Amino acid sequence: MCGIFGIYDHAEASNHVYLGLYALQHRGQESAGIVSSDEKQLHHYRQMGLVSEVFSKDIMKKLHGRSAIGHVRYSTTGSSDLKNAQPFLVNYAKGMISIAHNGNLTNAFLIWSELESGGSIFQSNMDTEVIVHLIARSKEKTFLDRTIHALRQVEGAYSLLFLTEKEMVAARDPMGFRPLILGSLKDSPVVASETCAFDLIGAKLIREIEPGEVLMINHSGIKSFKPFPHRPLRQCIFEFIYFARPDSFIFNHNVYEIRKSLGVQLAREAPAEADMVIPIPDSGFPSTLGYAHESKLPFELGMIRNHYIGRTFIEPEKRIRHFGVKIKLNPVKGLLKGKKIVIVDDSIVRATTSRKIVRMFQHAGAREVHTRISSPPITDPCYFGIDTPKKSELIASSHKVKEIQKFIHATSLNYLSLEGLKKCVRGEEKNFCYACFTGEYPYPYPK
Ligand code: AMP
Repeated sequence: MCGIFGIYDHAEASNHVYLGLYALQHRGQESAGIVSSDEKQLHHYRQMGLVSEVFSKDIMKKLHGRSAIGHVRYSTTGSSDLKNAQPFLVNYAKGMISIAHNGNLTNAFLIWSELESGGSIFQSNMDTEVIVHLIARSKEKTFLDRTIHALRQVEGAYSLLFLTEKEMVAARDPMGFRPLILGSLKDSPVVASETCAFDLIGAKLIREIEPGEVLMINHSGIKSFKPFPHRPLRQCIFEFIYFARPDSFIFNHNVYEIRKSLGVQLAREAPAEADMVIPIPDSGFPSTLGYAHESKLPFELGMIRNHYIGRTFIEPEKRIRHFGVKIKLNPVKGLLKGKKIVIVDDSIVRATTSRKIVRMFQHAGAREVHTRISSPPITDPCYFGIDTPKKSELIASSHKVKEIQKFIHATSLNYLSLEGLKKCVRGEEKNFCYACFTGEYPYPYPK
């Protein structure tokens, strides 16, 4: 869970990366960083915190040059501290390289121990650093070939941006787990995790970077390479369910439309007799609209969100996370007294949020709280970059739906079926990874 953004050959490179990262803030709120190139050297700044907190005017002035890449981070491997913030920057025998990574490498720790026993010294405890070491050790002649040589050795999910003094390289893993999009700002190529970043800076969408594609961007233009063996597509379905912004186009679909159709399908599968349908802000909005539309129940904003705090998950302490739901969400009491309500949320992970939310509605006077979830039960952890906890912490890995309903004190509880979810991706169901709902991983996780 991270967001990446890059621009090549533009007078306002770092300012645009700053804006791009701002639009991608939902993909990671732990740290932010930018690396720029003035063709002679790379300039670097990264810090813990939100984009708006990390960069001041003075810092932005130091990030000069006509090309830049940036990163917002939500840790999925490696601890949450500054040494793991990206973009990562190193000096090696052939110059400087910086790298920004979204995804998770599944064989990083195997390569890591091999490299360490061969004498390599690591600065972070991040999987991404492995790629840099592999590039530095490669005997290939050009940066592009060294990068391809390194990427041939790694497994897993990667959408990547590299910046050297003279070139920018974008790469997406052959199974296409995470999105990566190519656009242009006038004549300058831009690359982002999601198109919402293009909208903010007025860039044009060109196309999705294809799974297994490597793009070399330099003063001669953009060249595309497909150097890896073909693999089946396994785009992350959770990007559509929860993670990506609804105004983005990723995996060639508008996230909003897919998310709304999840709600339509959920209403068909699990209708409820109720006075109104209420979204759990914000990720529940589009699917609730679909649910209300299909069930012909009134849509009401019965839960209001305080927007000035991050997502509850950011807080690693369980105690703080519990408190977080209350600071973040508050029901509209005037609307709820004696009412039968349907609430729609995108997912249940540990069920601590749903339990709190159902209780808040009941305290506010709701007579019945029918909970509807616009994804199937999450039973298995993700190894490809979504921050789902260990299997033992996922409530659906050890509890049946009826037991979860009891735990959260809901009048009824229904999840979207896996078949229903697959219907919503419009004939492309084979192209997605559903491992968090099935435990069927695209390949066995290396031990
Ligand atoms: P929980 O209390 O653990 O069941 O959290 C469920 C809530 O967390 C849902 O309302 C989701 O919107 C949100 N959520 C689901 N997956 C994630 C994730 N990987 N990171 C952060 N929040 C998530």
